[in-house]
Amino acid sequence: MLELKHIKKYYTVGDNVTKALDDVSVAFRKQEFVAILGPSGSGKTTMLNVLGGLDQYDSGDLVINGKSTKGFKAADWDAYRNNSIGFIFQSYNLISHLSIIDNVEMGMTLSGVPAGEKSKRAKDALVRVGLGPHMNKKINQLSGGQMQRVAIARAIANDPEILLADEPTGALDTVTSNEIMQLIQDLSKERLVIMVTHNPELAHQYADRTIEFSDGQILEDSKPYTDEVSSNDFKLKHTKMRFWTALKLSFNNIRTKKGRTFLTMFASSIGIIGIAIVLALSSGFQIQIDKTQRETLSQFPISISRTGTDQTAAQSSQQSDKVSKSDKITAKTSAAEKAQHTNKITQDYVNYLDKIDSSLTKNISKTYATGLNLIREVNGTYKPIQFSSASGNGMDSSAMLAASGIGGSVYPIDRNGNQTFLKTNYKLLSGAYPNSATDIVLIVNRDNTVNINALKNLGFKVKEGQKYDYNKLLGTTIKVVANNDYYQSLPTGNFVPNTDYTKMANASDTKTLKITGILRVKSKNSDGLLSSGIAYSDQLTKLVVDQNEKSDIVSAQKKSDTNVLTSQTVNAATKSTLISYLGGSSIPSNIQIYPTNFKDKDKILTYLDKYNKGKTKANKIVYTDLAGNVSSLTGGLMDAITYVLIAFAGISLVTSMIMIAIITYTSVLERTKEIGVLKALGARKRDITRVFDAETTILGVGSGVLGILIAWLLTFPINAILKSMTDLSNVAQLNPTHALILIIVSTVLTVLGGHIPARMAAKKDAAIALRSE
Ligand code: ADP
Repeated sequence: MLELKHIKKYYTVGDNVTKALDDVSVAFRKQEFVAILGPSGSGKTTMLNVLGGLDQYDSGDLVINGKSTKGFKAADWDAYRNNSIGFIFQSYNLISHLSIIDNVEMGMTLSGVPAGEKSKRAKDALVRVGLGPHMNKKINQLSGGQMQRVAIARAIANDPEILLADEPTGALDTVTSNEIMQLIQDLSKERLVIMVTHNPELAHQYADRTIEFSDGQILEDSKPYTDEVSSNDFKLKHTKMRFWTALKLSFNNIRTKKGRTFLTMFASSIGIIGIAIVLALSSGFQIQIDKTQRETLSQFPISISRTGTDQTAAQSSQQSDKVSKSDKITAKTSAAEKAQHTNKITQDYVNYLDKIDSSLTKNISKTYATGLNLIREVNGTYKPIQFSSASGNGMDSSAMLAASGIGGSVYPIDRNGNQTFLKTNYKLLSGAYPNSATDIVLIVNRDNTVNINALKNLGFKVKEGQKYDYNKLLGTTIKVVANNDYYQSLPTGNFVPNTDYTKMANASDTKTLKITGILRVKSKNSDGLLSSGIAYSDQLTKLVVDQNEKSDIVSAQKKSDTNVLTSQTVNAATKSTLISYLGGSSIPSNIQIYPTNFKDKDKILTYLDKYNKGKTKANKIVYTDLAGNVSSLTGGLMDAITYVLIAFAGISLVTSMIMIAIITYTSVLERTKEIGVLKALGARKRDITRVFDAETTILGVGSGVLGILIAWLLTFPINAILKSMTDLSNVAQLNPTHALILIIVSTVLTVLGGHIPARMAAKKDAAIALRSE
């Protein structure tokens, strides 16, 4: 069934040519026990390896069941070893990190035998070799004879037609040797067994046929076989290791060297730790920068008022340093005065502003210089009140006219109708953020104090230092009366406030305001955005203007050149202020634009400048960029720092990759024997690569996860240190997406680093691998 025809195998080392097999021709029967005898170095092992397809012959032919192997490809040899051959070695060659059963199953695992059948066949084989009771022991708990029995079980588990044994009793004592020989002889009743031995007594005692070797040639054959073999029923089932098997093999191997694996993972995770921390810090700093920008800009919005200061004019007309040589005096307007500019804010301009890209600014606040006719019920009677915190004494309406402000603070509602301004800058102490234009809030200082006058002007009887429950103030209602209900006209054409406040309170046009929330400024940076006391939305002032624009007193004031309340003569500017105060102007007196960040602010300024293009100086609208002088902390510098740090961390990542390659290479050297055994069992090159790729995958995932875990743990002390140094809390924040990407990067790099040694392992010559110690 097996025939060597003029086989030659020469080894050339330097100038020295060793003829390991020198024109060997021999044929074997389908069933016999052949012992190969001969001195050491005579070529016995080489022949056995050629017969088993572990080593390639140089010339001649190996004929299996009448089929020539000249055209065999690597996969055919792998399948041949797996399907037809069982190897038994002198040094057993068991894979020590696998269990006995797994060792015996390995050949079948490689050829894809289903689990149930595989396990049954492995157990049968173990029982057959007499290891039934020891099946569940570990390899290193067995005696030499028992280990050889496991190796024999592994060789016969796949039920091969040929059993090749290389000095199977070489390492055993006489008694055990005889037992093993008995077993092999027993097995030879069902198949062809070819055994190399240096022990002629054993050979003659057990073998059916002995072949004597010398210097690569057959010296004597006790029972030559000359029949021509013609049957050609030789079929091969190709093998294929599943990745799972490779993973299990590597996992078990790694388990046997836990300490070293952990150290490797730790060392190679340092790169990951570095990058993870840099990323965590930079995204944390970016969040801080964004926050600072937002806070700065909500404190210093772009502002457009009726009278503006042209900043460029103010800067360009700075005094010259040059000392004049002229003996004349030049008349010159002061820079400040030159920069004064009256903005003609028109409805067109307001519409233009409303068209600003909503991604650049969420909040555009419009202030109308309108007064509010406020009354509140105190102890059962209504009386006029005000939001102002300017003075302790309730001002009469004419005094109010004189006051520039109207009291209270106005906050913007964002362009989607949400309370982003309040929510980002103010913490809710009690109640709720406002829902509608008639919901108002009480702003308290960071120490929970409120301007005493703000409370007095609301009609509360308060004493310095008095404390209030939130509930006492929450829910307080205040009424805003329409001009037509608030003022009555006199026959003279003048107007005076009505005195029947109860009637006003019940008038149909009267709106009810309610304190729905008590808010406190969130951070020091936002201090003073809104002064302590009542704050209401710009929507409310708009509502009031809409209501009063057409009122009698406004119409009368528009026609008259005297103040309709006091009969004083007024100039044009005062008249216009009066009309606005009475709610007669739907053009805002002041517009504040709150950009999201500095970059967006610049874009908005460009947009505002575009409006002025081609307009006469008088028609230009000048804005004030309050944040212009604040250093613009853009993320650019941060990005640069991040890149540099990532580059450094990247270097350590590459270093760890090289380390993994070295470790894999060491592992390859260590596992050379195992590679030989796997090949003898029919593993393909690709399977061997897989085993090592699986190992590096485990290492890569392990070091990635370990790196992320350590980095995450490190964010706590880092944040604590940063907190104590800079007062910034939670700067380092590990983004889960970054973490995941880093684990993947670690795995991919590690596998890449380990792949080259893995390929080297796969290329290892099986015969040489098995000879290694
Ligand atoms: P035996 O099994 O009879 O002791 P071997 O088959 O192992 O003999 O070796 C036969 C000869 O081939 C020896 O001289 C040995 O040194 C040589 N040989 C075996 N393998 C190699 C190799 N990979 N490279 C060079 N020489 C080798």
